[in-house]
Amino acid sequence: MKTFDTVVIGAGPAGAGCARILAKSNPRVLLVEQHESFQKNDFSSAATPLETLEKFQLPEAVVGTFWQKLEIVSTNKAHTWESQTQLGAVLNFAKLREFLANQVKDCGGEVWLGCRYQKHFQEGGKTIVELRKKGGEKIAISAKVLVDATGPARAVLGVSHRNKSDFLTASGIEYLIEVPPEIYQQYANKLVFFLGHKWMPKGYSWIFPMEPELNRLKVGSARYHLEHQHINPKESIRWYLELLLKDYLKLSQPQYKSIDLHGSTVKYSVGLKDVYYRDNVIAIGDAVSTINMLGGEGIRHGMENAAIASKYIEQYLNNSLSNFQGYQREMRRRYGLKWNFSEQMGRKRYMQDSDVFIDKGVAYLQSLTVEEMMDILFEYKFQRLYKSFGKYLKRKLGFMVRDLRRSRKL
Ligand SMILES: Cc1cc2nc3c(=O)[nH]c(=O)nc-3n(C[C@H](O)[C@H](O)[C@H](O)COP(=O)(O)OP(=O)(O)OC[C@H]3O[C@@H](n4cnc5c(N)ncnc54)[C@H](O)[C@@H]3O)c2cc1C
Repeated sequence: MKTFDTVVIGAGPAGAGCARILAKSNPRVLLVEQHESFQKNDFSSAATPLETLEKFQLPEAVVGTFWQKLEIVSTNKAHTWESQTQLGAVLNFAKLREFLANQVKDCGGEVWLGCRYQKHFQEGGKTIVELRKKGGEKIAISAKVLVDATGPARAVLGVSHRNKSDFLTASGIEYLIEVPPEIYQQYANKLVFFLGHKWMPKGYSWIFPMEPELNRLKVGSARYHLEHQHINPKESIRWYLELLLKDYLKLSQPQYKSIDLHGSTVKYSVGLKDVYYRDNVIAIGDAVSTINMLGGEGIRHGMENAAIASKYIEQYLNNSLSNFQGYQREMRRRYGLKWNFSEQMGRKRYMQDSDVFIDKGVAYLQSLTVEEMMDILFEYKFQRLYKSFGKYLKRKLGFMVRDLRRSRKL
């Protein structure tokens, strides 16, 4: 039976990121993924701020394109924030995970694709992990540390079947399409988010640019699986996606070419009550809710979590730690407050606000600078919202004075 120091189940950004870090100092790492290729599970829109590339040493080869504008469109309002420099990237999710897995191999680690985790158990003081290959063949290996990086499936620690209300669940689907160059140019360099009941009640939609040379766009919609305070939309997520194509992009086939349709469901543990470890099994990434539920951003947080977990795994392997309690403490300290606040903000925005309130919100945000918007959306610095309240009132007052003067002239 083959023995590894660490076996990581799930080659998403968290699992592959963790295996990459560990393999650099100790190549006795195995990364296991149920899909046979990275193109098969290419579900993420993968927008991220620019710092992600440098922080995780990602090459331009994993970038679809860069962006330097943000636009928010609601039922009756729209506003664009623009920067003179690049603000972020839309990654090619398949290439990102493939790159991370290749780095594991380059360091001497192993990557087994098309191999599904079945179960693990203790035998003779060892942790035996049972895997099943695509064709049905069973393989047993032993591991000193086993990592659950299976995302919302939480397949290894087996905690996804707890009470439904323990989780905040949301589903998203996305088209990758090729559009005429003149349409692509309108969306190059910017992330467009659609809020409000016209575009996506109980969630949001988006248009993100991809490879410019191919005129590709990612067009998607996502929503929470919860009851809304005001409305009960009957239409499917796909219906809203089609609405964006027809009503906003004004495209119908054959004006655009559909390259792929993908999607997934995320499962966030309310109040971050996930199980972070059990004995020598440790969970990372979306398996411990590192996705932020306000904007659904999870790639860099999963990779950051992978770096934290790797530090504890290395200490465990060289016997300077006997359990992963410190890991759980660090994770709760780091994410607890911000993530809980983001969850509350998300619930309010997507499940309680009326359409008029969302329009007013977009009007309010117009007084913010692009830097303030980046701080709110990507750093979760929500205090920026309140600091700008004065600016907003000043602007509103300016409009009122202007209207008053105009009415006096009449
Ligand atoms: C529609 C959509 C759009 C998104 N857009 C963005 C975005 O723009 N920016 C951003 O940062 N984040 C985005 N996210 C979130 C982001 O993609 C996730 O947070 C991130 O992928 C989580 O990484 P992970 O490695 O923890 O889990 P995952 O990426 O889910 O990876 C888990 C892996 O485990 C594998 N696996 C599961 N069970 C088993 C098993 N039994 N055996 C073997 N392998 C198994 C899966 O096949 C998968 O490859 C989006 C999510 C969705 C659904």
